[in-house]
Amino acid sequence: METSTEGAAQAPSSDAAQADAPVTVEPAAAVPPVDAAGTGPRAAIAPASLSPSRASDFMQCPLLYRFRVIDRLPEKPSEAATRGTLVHAVLERLFDAPAAERTAPRAKSLIPGQWDRLRETRPEVVELFEDDPEGERLARWLGEAEQLVERWFSLEDPTRLEPAERELFVQAELDSGLMLRGIIDRVDVAPTGEVRIVDYKTGKAPRPEYAEGALFQMKFYALVVWRLKNVVPRRLQLVYLGSGDVLTYDPVVADLERVERKLLALWEAIRQATESGDWRPRPTKLCGWCDHQAHCPEFGGTPPPYPLPVGAGG
Ligand code: SF4
Repeated sequence: METSTEGAAQAPSSDAAQADAPVTVEPAAAVPPVDAAGTGPRAAIAPASLSPSRASDFMQCPLLYRFRVIDRLPEKPSEAATRGTLVHAVLERLFDAPAAERTAPRAKSLIPGQWDRLRETRPEVVELFEDDPEGERLARWLGEAEQLVERWFSLEDPTRLEPAERELFVQAELDSGLMLRGIIDRVDVAPTGEVRIVDYKTGKAPRPEYAEGALFQMKFYALVVWRLKNVVPRRLQLVYLGSGDVLTYDPVVADLERVERKLLALWEAIRQATESGDWRPRPTKLCGWCDHQAHCPEFGGTPPPYPLPVGAGG
């Protein structure tokens, strides 16, 4: 078992936390606005699935989880998160090219096209630069994306990589019925069959004392792969483009069993909160990045009316 941070560790960054955690809705946690007949009260439905992002939401702040999964409150796109999405798309698409052509100039040349594509597929990101008629902020933002892409080449050599999978959607059901799902940035498989799971982060690497939190997502993926393929990944690798660090961890079965127990406990806590409606706010410095302060009691706000607990609607 090994934990290492290659390169200088940086301060934890809430920007990093946001940049690589796009908000997606857990499909199984759907909350109809009204009952099936369209007339009665809403009902909160306990989720049947968990992703690393939503599990992290609940651990960070149960009320944030509620706002995102139960209430589905809209969130504004952020420059950091959108830049993260853009950079991920560029790194993924670069592997379409023959190995010898996976150069930094080639990667940077993909940015304008991927930005166009992002604006088509997620029109809401256009509003990020609506107040920038001269395009100065956009140019700076695109330049920052270029720097992140360029830094990747100092950390990995894509001419020597042949990923088995890119942007791989995975899901696995645990014996308890909990469905785990997520998207893995890259899966490498060695000729010997050893599996490496790789995730790109556009923020900075956490300080060593925060590494465990950063690895939670990777152990989550390792658990899913283990359950799906009956293979424990040999290595988990986080590539921090913001600071130029690589964090690796070689998991063993006991790690994955531990994370499974943790997820089951988390799932139970979410189920209880769903039924009771008791979603405690947990203020931290990450509140500065939360879109929901206007609804949060910690900031003088009022949450939306809570859907009736499961079973209480008659
Ligand atoms: S502002 Fe902070 S405490 Fe309130 S919901 Fe957001 S993360 Fe939680």
